[in-house]
Amino acid sequence: MKKLALHWQILIALGIGILYGFVASFAGWQDFTIDWVKPWGTIFIRMLKLIAVPLIFFSLVQGIGSLENISKLSRMGIKTLAFYIVSTVIAITVGLGMVNLFRPGDNFPEDKKEEFQLIYGGDAESKINIAHSTDEGPLRFIVDIVPDNIVGASADNSNMLQVIFFAILFGISMVALKRKKVKTVLDFISGVNDIIIMMVQLIMKTAPIGVFALMASLMVELAGNDPASSVSLLQSLGFYALVVIFGLVFLIAVVYPGLLSIFTKLKYFQFLKGIFPAQMLAFSTSSSAATLPLTMKQCENELGVSKEVSSFVLPVGATINMDGTSLYQAVAAVFISIVFGYDLTLGQQLTIVLTATLASIGAAAVPSAGIVMLVIVLESIGVPSAGIALIFAVDRPLDMLRTVVNITGDSAIASIIAESENKLHPDDGSGSKILNFKRLKKY
Ligand code: ASP
Repeated sequence: MKKLALHWQILIALGIGILYGFVASFAGWQDFTIDWVKPWGTIFIRMLKLIAVPLIFFSLVQGIGSLENISKLSRMGIKTLAFYIVSTVIAITVGLGMVNLFRPGDNFPEDKKEEFQLIYGGDAESKINIAHSTDEGPLRFIVDIVPDNIVGASADNSNMLQVIFFAILFGISMVALKRKKVKTVLDFISGVNDIIIMMVQLIMKTAPIGVFALMASLMVELAGNDPASSVSLLQSLGFYALVVIFGLVFLIAVVYPGLLSIFTKLKYFQFLKGIFPAQMLAFSTSSSAATLPLTMKQCENELGVSKEVSSFVLPVGATINMDGTSLYQAVAAVFISIVFGYDLTLGQQLTIVLTATLASIGAAAVPSAGIVMLVIVLESIGVPSAGIALIFAVDRPLDMLRTVVNITGDSAIASIIAESENKLHPDDGSGSKILNFKRLKKY
């Protein structure tokens, strides 16, 4: 019997997990699910995170180290950053447009406002504290990119940018030296890279079990012990959540197809089909960093993005390019302002564009990072950051969706950069388009 493709396996596991979660919440199997099902999801996420730092380091070093000279890297680097910033600003503008058009906070019930603050005030405070511990002066985020100890930086998955910094410096130094001198190191790194890719493949074999367990336990936790009351909480935030979702769908259905059709010859359907497994994994893990191994694999194997491009553009993108997160921050900031009775001026809305861009760059690619950085956006426009308590109840599902958009944006830009470098097929750097499109016709 032919083996089911990975995206189907993940999708089916996701569906069964959600179904199981529903049944478990209503049948009172919460404890069983947390004790016996959730750990398999945790193990799966741990395995993905385990591979993230070595994957980023070795693939970046191999990618840069095999370049003939540094000018190619700086050209690709500048293009990548420019596209990342432009797509983030587009995302925030879409978010601001939608939230101003629909104004979801206008009829927010007063009693719900108090109820949410009562329930989620404590959580909000802890997120505000985390945000403040990283908020020291305007240049802090640049300082934070530079590690003072590489072992320390690699010890924490939220320091990806520091690992990237070290890897780029390492790679550049390798190119600056004579090839003969570093040949052994390059061969070694390329061997380690192959091993890591094999590890990713092995880990992905367990994806259906991991995704099932993640979804099942998430559903149980979201419903809590009183599924009926959580449904009512969700209802009052439904309009806000819908505006965020509408914005995210707009990015996937209009902005990315537009960008891809302008800058590449990739058919959008083929693009979506190629990255679908990574999208499903992003949805179930809520972490771009945990999804990175699969995003890279899909972009290389299914879209034909060359390793040289994907190994640079995707790790950097997972860390700094978060279109979904920045759109959500724009909508959430304005929603909270409206509920609190603040009428934002144009200047304040422009401040949102700036701070949400920086906040999404600074946000770690892990669950709930977006809501932590939202504190900074709110404070920049003078709205009480405790307002995040209002949106906590729906944050996890929105986190899952914005993470899908985050990795979709990274993959779209990786394809654009690859096309611009004539590297849209891994086996053949030159004249790649013809080969690549023959390859895509298979679908
Ligand atoms: N979970 C998101 C990511 O990993 C970040 C966020 O918006 O919270 O991409």
